[in-house]
Order: sequence, then C-alpha cells, then structure tokens
Amino acid sequence: MPTLRTLLVVALALAATAASAQAPAAPAAENVILVMIDGLRWQEVFTGADERYLSKAIGKVEKPEPLLERWHRGTPEERREALMPFLWSVVVREGQLYGNRYKGSTVDITNGRGVSYPGYAEALCGVAEPVIKDNRHIVNPNPTVLEFLNQQEGFRGKAAAFGSWQTFRFIFRAETCGFPVDDGNGAFTAGAGSPELAVLNRVRTEVPYRWSGVAFDALTVNTAMEWMKVNRPRAVFLGMGETDEWAHEYDYTRYLEAAHLADAYLRRLWEFLQSDAQYAGRTTLMITCDHGRGDLFQKDRAWGDHGSGNPGSEHIWLAVVGPGTRPLGERTNTQPITQSQFASTLAAAAGLDFSTLQPRAGGPIRDCLPTPPAARP
Ligand SMILES: [Zn+2]
Repeated sequence: MPTLRTLLVVALALAATAASAQAPAAPAAENVILVMIDGLRWQEVFTGADERYLSKAIGKVEKPEPLLERWHRGTPEERREALMPFLWSVVVREGQLYGNRYKGSTVDITNGRGVSYPGYAEALCGVAEPVIKDNRHIVNPNPTVLEFLNQQEGFRGKAAAFGSWQTFRFIFRAETCGFPVDDGNGAFTAGAGSPELAVLNRVRTEVPYRWSGVAFDALTVNTAMEWMKVNRPRAVFLGMGETDEWAHEYDYTRYLEAAHLADAYLRRLWEFLQSDAQYAGRTTLMITCDHGRGDLFQKDRAWGDHGSGNPGSEHIWLAVVGPGTRPLGERTNTQPITQSQFASTLAAAAGLDFSTLQPRAGGPIRDCLPTPPAARP
C-alpha cells in the first residue's frame, strides 16, 4: 500500500507535469523594441476620436462633417478601431493593452512633471529623476535600458535609438552610451548604409523643419526601418513626435492623422518583423507614450497642452505584444501600472534583470510577461 505521503508526492508530480504541459515556459524575446508616441492621449487610444473636439473653438475644425465621416462611429470600440486599426486588430488579438481608465486599468507617470524629457527618462531609466524637471538639454544622469541591454551577452553592440526630437541625444547620452542615436535632425550616418538610406538622408537634409528640433515622423520611421534591415539591431527605441506637435497647435484634425499614421507605421514595422527570420516570433514590441494631456478647454484643463498644472497629463497607456505575452487583449481591472516599470519590463521580456544596473527602477509588469519569467535561451 502506498503511504499517504507517497500518494501526495505522485499527485504533486502529476500536477506539475500537467501545469508545464498547459503552459510551457516561453523563451525570452531575442529582440526588443520600445515605441513611444509623444503625448498621444489614452482617451483617443481607447475611445477613438472625440466628436466634442471637432469644433472651431476646441480643435480648430471649420467643417466637422468630413471628420465625422472619417472618424466618428457609434461606439468607442468602432471609433478606436477606425483611428488605430493595428492596435485594435493585431495587438488586441495577440497581445495586451493597459490604460483604459473607464475599465479599471490605469497607467501613470510618477515624475509629476507631465512633460517629455522626464517621461522618456522615467520610461527608459526606470526612475523619476528629480534633476530632470523639464525639456532642458542636460545629459541624462542615469543609463537607459538600451544602454543596459547593449552591455549584455547577445545584445552587445546591437542597440540603436531613433527619434524625431533633438533632445533624444541627451536622453540617451549619445556621446557615451556606446550605440547609435538618431535624433531626427540632419543625416543619420551611423552603421552600414544602403541606397535607400542614402536617399532618406538626402531628403532629411532638404525637408524644412516645421518645428524647432523636431522632424516629421516619416523621416525618422523610414530611416529606422531601413537601418534595421541593413544593420540588424536587437534592442531598438523608436520615438514619434508629430502627435504632440499638432496637439500643441490645438489642431485636432492633424493630431488624429498623426495618431493614425503612427498606427500604420506600427503595422508596417510588425509586418516587417514577422517576415524576417531574425525577428519573426522572437521580438517583443512595447508601445506607449511619454505623457498624457489635458481635456477640452476649461480653466487649467486644455487638451492640447500638458504639464504638472494640466490635470490628465499623468495618465498614459501601454501595449505589449511578443513571445510569451499572453493574448489577453484589452485589460480591465488590473493592478495600477507606472511608467517607471517600463524599463524593467523591456529587459525582463529579454530574460534580463534591469535591477542589477538600476536597483531603484520599478519592477517588471509580470502580467504581460511569460509565466514563469522568461529565461535567456
Ligand atoms: Zn509637448
């Protein structure tokens, strides 16, 4: 007769086998990409275009009818899919989206500033750094998660950052970080070139700048994708900036078009990744923003601007898709998430522990990572 203890051991072993058969440990991602869309509000991400903004006073809209036809639908689900069809088809089906505050999912900045540099620094370094109060060009005192990855086995010499904004040179510590940083301004000549990159570089030096220190996203994104094809990086940052610029002009039409274009770029990026032997099925993509914005035109609450005096600027969102991220779609009633967790989460998706470099960083968001945590293959 088997003893009770033996039966218990056998039962536990069977249970463990069943559990591992149900949920095999997913391998860590071999490539990780963080995309940030500057100042894109969670409201548009989760509920699409807001018809109250389609007026002259609020969104500089003279004739709302064509915009209503283009973006307005009967439900938030239909509106958001019209605005960001990649997020609301591929990512919602294969990955996870956090930040719909109407459904109990919150993602917030902790730096208290609600402006860009503090937001990028918090997302990339895992800490709200008090020295970074605004967008002044000071060199980031903390290493970014790309700098961390660029020092790890398998990722060494394989990081690259692309953004439409001059300040990225300071955020990424371009002079000392050890990997190429494209700040969107002028030609980008790091790494191996190609005929396509040569054309892009010529165009980048000829197209005038509409904003100070900020390039059109078309120039940055096309450069990043061509450069990836030629130089095969494994840790990539891509920052798009037009959403923020048009919003500051209170131009809701162009803000929506910029969000829609950013989504189209995400689709193009994802389709390239899934068609390429190095990246297909082995790449985690995280998509987020640096800060939120205000709401409508009320005293101290203006949708086009953002900052510590503009309530709502602290509210952001996050989408994750890749190997080991369970396909749970739009998340509801989740644990609160902070921007300071993004750096650790990106590293953990690659099976790496960012706290070995930055002990003060927020911990990884386990909910969107493989269970148990991914190990490096
Ligand atoms: Zn801004």
